[in-house]
Amino acid sequence: MSSTPRLVLGTNNPHKRSELAEMLAGSIPGGGIEVATLADFANAIEVEETGTTFAENSRLKAVEQAKHLGEWVLADDSGIAIDALKGRPGVDSAHFAGPQRDNDANNQLVLDELAGVPRQRRGAKYVCHVVLADPAGEVQAEAVGTCRGEIATELRGSGGFGYDPLFIVREYHRTFGELGPAVKQTLSHRSRALRTILPDLVRLLAPR
Ligand code: IMP
Repeated sequence: MSSTPRLVLGTNNPHKRSELAEMLAGSIPGGGIEVATLADFANAIEVEETGTTFAENSRLKAVEQAKHLGEWVLADDSGIAIDALKGRPGVDSAHFAGPQRDNDANNQLVLDELAGVPRQRRGAKYVCHVVLADPAGEVQAEAVGTCRGEIATELRGSGGFGYDPLFIVREYHRTFGELGPAVKQTLSHRSRALRTILPDLVRLLAPR
């Protein structure tokens, strides 16, 4: 009667998926939870992000997918808030430069909008909201993680994804694009949110 509990990562973004899967693999005691992704479910739905906050969108993604699949789902909604742009692009991070969700165009638009802005006013933060919904679609836990940094004046490095080649991590004076995955897994908004929700996740899915 002791089948391994299953958690579905409710994201179609392959970068987020592998970041979350790697962090979970390294932190769940004894492999006590099977981690699946939406790619494992032919009937997974595309949940529309109609909310106006990271919290609303991550709840929508977790709740709707969990109800539909009848599975535990962990969903994230994340993005970058740039001080000099009064918090933009925020929840619109994926499609800042248009509906085509083009990372290169998004990064170029950030550089254009920050042209001439001096270093001391190029502050920004990554934000990640994670939500765990049970198979009935009830929210059982949620957490937020942030990571402060500053926007470079040119693209630097090819690691990570999205805005990472522009996001300077202050502790290292380098962008996430230049730093390896180990640093991102320690300092990023996503890793911080995941570390915060992890005790609840383990308690709920893999009780001893
Ligand atoms: P979402 O899929 O609606 O949550 O959109 C997230 C968007 O925020 C991504 O497409 C990226 O543009 C940006 N983003 C979120 N997390 C990261 C990250 O860790 N690195 C770089 N960009 C990120």
